[in-house]
Amino acid sequence: MISVSEAKKIIQEHALPKKKKHLSLEAAYGLVLAEDVLACLDVPRFDNSAMDGYALSVGNGNSFKIKGEIKAGDEAEIFLKTGDAARIMTGAMIPKGTDAVVMREVTKEANGDVLVEAPVKQGDHIRRRGEEIRVGDVALTKGKVLNPSALSYLASVGVDSALVYQPPKVSIVVTGNELVNSIEELKPGQIIDSNTLTLKTALKEAGIQEIHCFRSQDDPDSLRQTIEQALSVSDSVLVSGGVSVGHWDFSKDVLNELGMKELFWRVAQKPGKPLLFGQKGEKTVFGLPGNPASVLVCFYEYVYPHLREAMGLIPSHLKTLRASFSGQVKKRAHLTTFSRAELFFDNHQPHVRVVPGQESFRLGSFAQANALAVLPEGKEIVENGEKVEVHLLP
Ligand code: AMP
Ligand code: MG
Repeated sequence: MISVSEAKKIIQEHALPKKKKHLSLEAAYGLVLAEDVLACLDVPRFDNSAMDGYALSVGNGNSFKIKGEIKAGDEAEIFLKTGDAARIMTGAMIPKGTDAVVMREVTKEANGDVLVEAPVKQGDHIRRRGEEIRVGDVALTKGKVLNPSALSYLASVGVDSALVYQPPKVSIVVTGNELVNSIEELKPGQIIDSNTLTLKTALKEAGIQEIHCFRSQDDPDSLRQTIEQALSVSDSVLVSGGVSVGHWDFSKDVLNELGMKELFWRVAQKPGKPLLFGQKGEKTVFGLPGNPASVLVCFYEYVYPHLREAMGLIPSHLKTLRASFSGQVKKRAHLTTFSRAELFFDNHQPHVRVVPGQESFRLGSFAQANALAVLPEGKEIVENGEKVEVHLLP
């Protein structure tokens, strides 16, 4: 049995290769740039007005002759001479000869003239060509997550596609003779498979786009076939169930028979002690203990960072902070405990309390939790007010 930190280190040392792909901006939403992106346009593309108002060629006095009108989208063909003005709209091209734009609110128009009732400074309300960025300059750097603002920035500088890290393809293999899909199918001794839904949605939440789901009986032959199929269509395989020491737990043996290099089995933690990790070629395999809470803890602590690292996300692990422990718990000293917990703020200070119902078959507490409190190895009692590490659930 190895420690949590050793297990995390081994997984990091066996990272998935980062695959890259050119995608349209819309398809790249949520993904990470795999290279710097350069602007294809000057932005603004041309000097333009920041206001609805008048472009002025300043002379003596505050009255100007209106020579025309420029709307957004027009090409400015007027030339302003001293004492001239043009009606202008926000975003419209600035005509040649303009000193400044004045906003409509401080003007009066009458008989083809405009009277300006406020001081005018050279360059007022003009957005200059290239003020934001010039053609060929770096718009966004490698590693940037393409959220809506990043995507709109790229679109505005004339970029229409981007090289991004492609999320790994992941297969879920659920094993258990007791598992059925729905309440209608239940016979004595059977339960509803919740892990498929758990893992599928947790993978989606992590940004995984291609997910394949398989179900196998607890039978070495069918499990072997299923896992082989899962490996053939994905970069990483998550096996749920059958990794413990039961007479009907076949996942570990089958994976080894299939040529998986076992990198660790069993971690000094609660829940999720029987966690297994291995590699076949460049593909990785996680054997997750079948208990629903163990599946999810192991997913968030080990699988989530492993997959997100391959997507170029930094940091790849759950958001982490330290909070004051509220209450007191006794635990096994040689294990790290990941407790389903509630992070809350009191007087702007972070506090965390453990949610009741921590047995690994119980999901109710997970449904209520917003975080995992990490109660470290080497400690038997965590006291009220102690600072503990908290991992925020996404
Ligand atoms: P195992 O890891 O196969 O020994 O399973 C441990 C516990 O988790 C048993 O009580 C199983 O019935 C339960 N379990 C296994 N797989 C699932 C699943 N897909 N959905 C819900 N419970 C499961
Ligand atoms: Mg089982």
